[in-house]
Amino acid sequence: MSNSDLLASVSRLASDGWIPKDELIRLLACEEKDVRETLRSRAEAVRRKYYGTDVYIRGLIEISNYCRNNCLYCGIRRGNTKAGRYRLGKEEILACCDRGYELGFRTFVMQGGEDVCYTDDFLEDLIREQKRRYPDCAVTLSLGERSRESYERLYRAGADRYLLRQEAVNPGLYGSLHPKEMSLANRLRCLADLKEIGYQVGCGFMVGAPGQTLDHIAEDLEYMRELKPQMIGIGPFLPHKDTPLGKEPAGSLALTLVLLSIIRLMLPAVLLPATTALGTITQRGREMGILAGANVVMPNLSPQEAKDQYILYDNKLRSGAEAAEGLAVLKRSMEAIGYQVVVSRGDCADYANGEERS
Ligand code: SAH
Repeated sequence: MSNSDLLASVSRLASDGWIPKDELIRLLACEEKDVRETLRSRAEAVRRKYYGTDVYIRGLIEISNYCRNNCLYCGIRRGNTKAGRYRLGKEEILACCDRGYELGFRTFVMQGGEDVCYTDDFLEDLIREQKRRYPDCAVTLSLGERSRESYERLYRAGADRYLLRQEAVNPGLYGSLHPKEMSLANRLRCLADLKEIGYQVGCGFMVGAPGQTLDHIAEDLEYMRELKPQMIGIGPFLPHKDTPLGKEPAGSLALTLVLLSIIRLMLPAVLLPATTALGTITQRGREMGILAGANVVMPNLSPQEAKDQYILYDNKLRSGAEAAEGLAVLKRSMEAIGYQVVVSRGDCADYANGEERS
């Protein structure tokens, strides 16, 4: 395919929100500077149309690194006996929110391993208290696979959003990244349930996960196009030394940026974070993500103990602009590229906020 063909694909992607899979794969494979720059600038323009130059912030609270799962890539997998474990209680979590609210956060994301100690009763009580203290804030959960009934209860308690990356919709790839007892069907069931219940839903995958091909990525893009999630989280795979995939190479920065732009053109109003993994793989990764079409950053509000132990991959960034205390640094870095951090719940532009709730 010539550059002009690829540029035509970019234009079609921008106008139709989609191009055939073979074109998509060629675009993913293309390393030509002018094609990549055209893709990036079209994505940035769409992002500005929907969100201006606003950058939404989410206060990330890593509530526990106990996990019953054993995903082959993840540093907090059950089988990693070298990981020191911790779990935050209700008051510790609320203290993070208090601090975050003061700093200007209006969304709290509670993320963790699949820790069986977080029962529905515990979480309902916590979410109700969060919504009582901060009625102007969104509560986002990222606690893995649960039953439909559990998702319903947490939604009724007031949770607004749920992040659950599908990781890979190709059964072969999914199977090579996860232990036998985990199932792709259940993961997709969870995402369908969450969407149906009324959550703003986030899905996504790691770029450059071991064994992942461009074809696999195109399959994930097709899945996401059909699901129409309100949020998509992607970041490069980064190895963790105490996992079975610890010697595999990291995913590519450039491909991650290309994907952020493609996703922005595919789902123009989607909430798209420049993730911690992107900030970790290179110094200015976060800024590059914003310039490629991302509109969200998620500084870490967790207590130091949690930051030191919630280690999904080696060298995970946990200071500077990545930490909530570093908000001033983050603000300056966004201003330096022409964007500004705003105090807002930052809902998805095409989601009827509040109105769909029962
Ligand atoms: N237990 C929750 C939260 C998982 S951590 C859940 O299952 O959804 C959030 C995300 O971090 C995961 O979905 C995964 O895509 C990403 N992640 C885990 N290990 C990683 C690694 N080694 N490199 C890059 N990203 C990783």
